[in-house]
Amino acid sequence: MHILTHTLHYGLGCFEGIRCYLCQDGGSAIFRLKEHVDRLFNSAHVILLDLPFSREEITEVCQEILRINQLKEGYIRPLVFMGDGAMGLAAQNNTRVAVAAWTWGAYLGEEGLKKGIRAKISSFTRHHVNAGMVKAKLCGQYVNSIMAKREAMIAGYDEAIMLDAQGKVAEASGENIFIVKDNIIKTPPTSISLLPGITRDSAITIARNLDYQISEEGITRDELYIADEVFMTGTAAEITPVREVDDRKIGKGKPGPVTNTIQDTFFKAVKGQTEKYRHWLTYL
Ligand code: PMP
Repeated sequence: MHILTHTLHYGLGCFEGIRCYLCQDGGSAIFRLKEHVDRLFNSAHVILLDLPFSREEITEVCQEILRINQLKEGYIRPLVFMGDGAMGLAAQNNTRVAVAAWTWGAYLGEEGLKKGIRAKISSFTRHHVNAGMVKAKLCGQYVNSIMAKREAMIAGYDEAIMLDAQGKVAEASGENIFIVKDNIIKTPPTSISLLPGITRDSAITIARNLDYQISEEGITRDELYIADEVFMTGTAAEITPVREVDDRKIGKGKPGPVTNTIQDTFFKAVKGQTEKYRHWLTYL
């Protein structure tokens, strides 16, 4: 790649993060591949980039990259970017696509998955909905996430929770957020400044199928503090419990029963152990 690759300078590009899991029967399955490919094309549409490949071609390459690298389990990263040849903000469409794959363990740590993580409300606000295009997973938008993540980690926390421009809870630096209060599950609506996560959608579906009451509504910072349970969802982070927010213990300070049930159901689903969720899987 040329040093004058447009996206490297200005951040106009989009990407996906997809996981493939090793299943009980020894096979490998990519989780919700169609939804990830659809979101990639939506992201490109938002920033007016035309992919020089079809959905079918991208879908096939996401599988091929695992086979070629002999990965039975791993993380897939399609990236749509502007290549070199013309610089400046007015450069014309010169869209290129790369797909990479690698082995990636629990993003917020194995211990985080089991015992819960410590999160901090960020001093950085999530993009205003008319500044960032947060329904798209855009390269440059991650500067905002990285600033928040680094600030939280330097202060000794595991993850940052970001508020939107109105002060409501939006999402974490790379995850969506849920709370449980009096057995009702709540998560912020997609109309605010957050990426509509595919794991978020999976968690909502699982919760509904388990007959939990679930509501997509605004959540304030102090609602997090007094929640019985808090958890985060993301392809990298999977379903990670939160045991502390801003040094306030959440519930008993350990993963609660609702989080544990949803996490357990999710891991069974991604590993092909539940017939009901098999349609979410693309076997290699
Ligand atoms: N929000 C942000 C900012 C993210 O980067 C991610 C990870 N893609 C998510 C939420 C969760 O999305 P998904 O469950 O589709 O991975």
